[in-house]
Amino acid sequence: METTKCLIIGSGPAGYTAAIYASRADLKPIVYQGMEPGGQLTTTTEIDNFPGYPEGVEGPKMMEDLQKQAERFGADIRWGMVSEIDTTERPFKVKVDDGTELLAETVIVATGATAKYLGLESEQKFKGGGVSACATCDGFFYKGKDVAVVGGGDTAAEEATYLANLCRKVYLIHRRDQLRASKAMQNKVLNTANIEVLWNHEVKEIVGVEQGFTKALNGAILVNNKTGEEQKINIDGFFVAIGHKPNTNLFFGKLDMDETGYLITKPDSTATNVPGIFAAGDVQDKHYRQAITAAGTGAMAAIEAERFLG
Ligand code: NDP
Repeated sequence: METTKCLIIGSGPAGYTAAIYASRADLKPIVYQGMEPGGQLTTTTEIDNFPGYPEGVEGPKMMEDLQKQAERFGADIRWGMVSEIDTTERPFKVKVDDGTELLAETVIVATGATAKYLGLESEQKFKGGGVSACATCDGFFYKGKDVAVVGGGDTAAEEATYLANLCRKVYLIHRRDQLRASKAMQNKVLNTANIEVLWNHEVKEIVGVEQGFTKALNGAILVNNKTGEEQKINIDGFFVAIGHKPNTNLFFGKLDMDETGYLITKPDSTATNVPGIFAAGDVQDKHYRQAITAAGTGAMAAIEAERFLG
């Protein structure tokens, strides 16, 4: 069976940075990229807050650069999903969805987080037919049309401003009377003429027409949670931007996690409760969740893996 000194699961800024550091330390890391090679940033537009890019950089371009940088030092980057891991003994036995099995002396978990949905049946029904969790992926389809974004954080604010450039009108639906987004993003939203913020509103239903397999969303029914008043807005696209869930299903009952599923690491460290397994990036960080902080913990994890191996 194939063996590796360091297996990295995930390919966002945390996974690739861990790969750069681990390969430079001669650990010859194997990286399994997971379901979304490049991670969440491949669905972002411009990144203006990653140091070293004075003019900003497109998310997919930055991830491509990180991958190339890791490959330059010999990281073995593979397409595939890790489907099973035995954390009870070292080396850790790992199975990949293509049938590959390998033994890893250390593991760096950098599986990131995934977008959350509201949980409405109608939202599920129109997924791929008007409902999306990624404006950069799907915004193009709504050029010149009216759309809505739900959420009040930085993601919602970013998606709304992105869509405002493409669409005729963007409704930003938020359940409170204040945005959670950073002041800079709030200002952008509030100063964009074709964004209308619907404060204190919740989404009751998403409506549209269905003909056989073809589905086309044409509106959303909203409730004002202060007055109870209902209204229908006419839209062609509905973008959900209400936060994320850590991708930790693989580790339930195996690694310590908090009540929301984020992996718990030791203070000032990326070490999990299992010696030899480290966690980096959004999978263990619900506070900062930035590309740069993910990259920072990726570097920490690789350094800790190297020291662990001695
Ligand atoms: P957040 O958790 O920050 O915000 C989620 C938003 O969705 C909140 O406004 C919340 O409302 C709302 N919400 C949550 N659940 C529901 C629900 N069931 N129904 C209706 N509304 C709901 O997530 P984000 O994805 O926006 O951001 C995550 C992190 O990533 C943050 O730290 C953010 O700063 C960062 N980020 C940074 C960016 C950048 O720097 N360029 C870009 C994007 C994200 P409420 O406010 O009432 O809780």
